[in-house]
Order: sequence, then C-alpha cells, then structure tokens
Amino acid sequence: MQIPDPAVEGQLKGKIALVTGAASGIGRASAIVFAQAGAAVVALDRAAEVEDTVATIRKENGRATAIVSDSSQESNISEAIDAAVREYGALDVCFANAGISGGLVPLNEQTPEHWLQVLTINLIGTFLAVKHAARVMTPRKRGSIICTASVAGLRSGAGGSPYSASKAGVISLVQTTAYQLSGSGVRINAICPGLIETGMTKPIFDQARARGTDNKIGQLNPLRRAGAPIEIARMALFLASDAASYVNGQAFPVDGGLSSSHPIVP
Ligand code: NAD
Repeated sequence: MQIPDPAVEGQLKGKIALVTGAASGIGRASAIVFAQAGAAVVALDRAAEVEDTVATIRKENGRATAIVSDSSQESNISEAIDAAVREYGALDVCFANAGISGGLVPLNEQTPEHWLQVLTINLIGTFLAVKHAARVMTPRKRGSIICTASVAGLRSGAGGSPYSASKAGVISLVQTTAYQLSGSGVRINAICPGLIETGMTKPIFDQARARGTDNKIGQLNPLRRAGAPIEIARMALFLASDAASYVNGQAFPVDGGLSSSHPIVP
C-alpha cells in the first residue's frame, strides 16, 4: 500500500494538467506527482516511453492520457491542449518542460542548424505550449503555466551556448508573458534546475562513474550533490497548486544553492 504524502495529497484535486517531456526525468516525475496530488494528467512526449509514465499513474489509480508527439510543432501542441480539454473538460496546469541539451560543442564548430535545433525545441516549443495553454486558460480566468528553464539560463558555464541562450530565452518569455497576461488570472513561472540526474545528463554520470569520479559530481553547489527529478517535481507541484496563488512571473533556481554561491575554494 502507498503511504499518503501530506505534502502532495490533494494539492491538485480536480485539476487537469498537461506535462511535456513526460517520458523521462523531470517530466516523468512531475506527471506522477501531479497525479498523486489528484490531477488528471495529459502526458506528452515524442518518445513512446510516455506510455510507461501513464501506465505507472494508472497502476496507482490515477487518471492519465499519453500523447506521443513533437512539442515543437504548433499543430501538435495545440491539438494536445484541445484533446486535454475535450477529454477532461478544462486545463488548469501546463508544465512546458520538454527540452534537449544540444551537447557541449566548441564555438568554432557550432552551426546555425545546431542553434536552430536547440532553440526550436527548448524556446519555441516552450513558447507554443505557453501560447496555447493561455488560449484555453484565459477565458476561465485561472490557470498555472510552469516552464523548465535552467541555471544555465542565469549563469554561464552550465551548458552549451545555444542551450544557455535557449534557457535565458525561456526566463525572458516567462517574465514578459506574465505581463502580457495581466488581469487574466493566469500565472506563469519558470523553474531553473541545477544538475539533476536524468536521461539528459546520463552521459555525464556514466562517464564519471566509469572514471571513478562520481563522488565529485555536484561538488560545486553547497549541498554537494546532484539533484533528483522528484526534487524539481515538488517545486513544479507547488507552482501548479493554489498554494502559489500570489507567485507570478518568477524564475526559481532549484539547484542546491549553485547559482547563489561563489566558491572561492575549489
Ligand atoms: P530527459 O532527457 O530525461 O527528459 C526530457 C524529455 O523531453 C525526454 O523524454 C524527451 O523525449 C522529451 N523531448 C525532447 N524534445 C521533445 C520534443 N520536441 N517533443 C516532445 N518531447 C520532447 O531530461 P530532463 O533533464 O528531465 O529534462 C527536462 C527539462 O529539464 C529540459 O527542459 C531540460 O533542459 C531541463 N533541465 C535539466 C537539467 C538536468 O540537469 N537534467 C538541468 C536544468 C534544466
């Protein structure tokens, strides 16, 4: 039997949530936590493994639907949001989380095509989810949109330059959209994760384990460890819930203190 978690139980009771990038990592953990908190979840990913996220939710008697599609195409995200409204009656929460890293490519090897690929998924895909979530939320005068940015959008050094630029763009998108949605009753915020062990960062962890340097991972932040997807999902849950009713237009680092610290001792 699952032991009820008072921090999660009932926080999204009766709400409908869409999560993009829900097949893996942060999106998967968030879809599961949203369902545990009482939401009906539409889990979208271009990877078919999103069916497994939905199967996990249903096994715990949650309500969920899987959509396999590319969130960077406007027709896909628009149809997914309409499908959520058709199936469950409304959309209360949109977690625009899908993203790719694009790798650490040296400046002289970066191409416009590489930049365009990263920006299309990380920034334009996020914008499209924001646009269509707002389309169905504003007539009801309520809703919470959450976007996954990154500490790489706040500081240099955490990713490749197209990745960092895309995440700085997501933060700017959130700030400007909060203003554009003035008076609509819809809130929008960003989460800026630090280093989290997920599908995206698996190569970093695998390489470090192979070299025997995995005890050094996460040592740059004051908590001196990498984060787990659930630690981002809990922040997403708070922002999605009515507990965050006066929280709007912000970008929150959830990074073990990385972005607030200036290590003077390596
Ligand atoms: P992940 O690779 O485990 O999950 C990302 C998911 O997004 C995958 O399932 C992938 O299939 C999906 N996806 C990618 N492009 C898509 C598209 N066009 N359409 C639909 N689905 C798509 O990685 P993660 O770390 O959980 O990443 C989630 C978000 O967190 C990303 O936006 C990432 O940039 C951000 N982030 C991650 C870290 C970290 O350390 N892991 C740090 C900061 C920010």
